Amino acid sequence: MHVVELKLVFLGTSAAIPTYERGLSSLAIVRGNEIIIFDAGEGMQIKFIRSKLGMNKKMKIFITHIHGDHCLGLLGLLQTLSLMGRTKPIDIFGEPRLQEFISVNRKILNFNINYQIIVHTIQNEGILVKEKDYLIKACYADHSILAFSFILEENNRPGIFNIERAQQSGIPEGQLYTLLQHGIDIEYNGTKLFAREFTGPSRPGRKVGISGDTRPSKKLEIFFRDCDVLVFESTFITQEKDKAIERFHSTALEASLLAKISKVKKLILTHFSSRYTNLKLIEMEAKKNFENIHIAHDHDVISVPYPEKELTKKCGRVKQIK
Ligand SMILES: [Zn+2]
Repeated sequence: MHVVELKLVFLGTSAAIPTYERGLSSLAIVRGNEIIIFDAGEGMQIKFIRSKLGMNKKMKIFITHIHGDHCLGLLGLLQTLSLMGRTKPIDIFGEPRLQEFISVNRKILNFNINYQIIVHTIQNEGILVKEKDYLIKACYADHSILAFSFILEENNRPGIFNIERAQQSGIPEGQLYTLLQHGIDIEYNGTKLFAREFTGPSRPGRKVGISGDTRPSKKLEIFFRDCDVLVFESTFITQEKDKAIERFHSTALEASLLAKISKVKKLILTHFSSRYTNLKLIEMEAKKNFENIHIAHDHDVISVPYPEKELTKKCGRVKQIK
């Protein structure tokens, strides 16, 4: 069975102001040969280069909202990729003003991009991208300006193929195996063979949520339900809850409560106010609601395994999942 790598690479985990250790918001999801970037805070290109993600891979960029700490790095990244010789187009998604933000800056700065950029305006919630084996969906966040949260959701995968059974039936390896595994009945030696007899039930793909800047909301609780990994902003702790409300951000406690209600499997907190030099407080607060928490640091790389692999690990069985 074809296994597609899925990992999260954190390129910036600070809110509003960068610190010595933390750059401004940016997350790259590497899925197979593709890079999908969520937000491009100023200076993220340095972390992008250090992470050796590759400058000419298939790429999409999503901007959650037009606040400087989430989008000022976009121009620098696009320019650097051009100077480095990129040839493949990039699809960029954001609210209606993003197109203007890019074109006005390009005009003033007079910079040429040697590859095609295609800016897609997000007009509404719903499915933005439908690739062969995954979707990207948007939902309104609850922030001080128009802002979106996103989900990357893989399609279900075919069930495990029973090779022994296929061999016993005398079916030759190759194309017929593939058809059966993808649920297509075949005819072999004049006999109809049903795919369901050779293949187990279909298996879920992986689901990753990205909050961007937001207050927690009922809407997001539903949107992020059952995510394998949820990356949620945690700008403040409860002591500064009044600031979180005033500035439309979340506290660590609120983020973890949402993760619990949404039944996500793993919560990654990011986007921390620069006032917190010790993130133990954030972690302690979040753990009151939710155990499986990771506090993101710049350059962290988090792999997202297939759900059945996780299950196997938990059961203590060392078994290769096909
Ligand atoms: Zn913001």
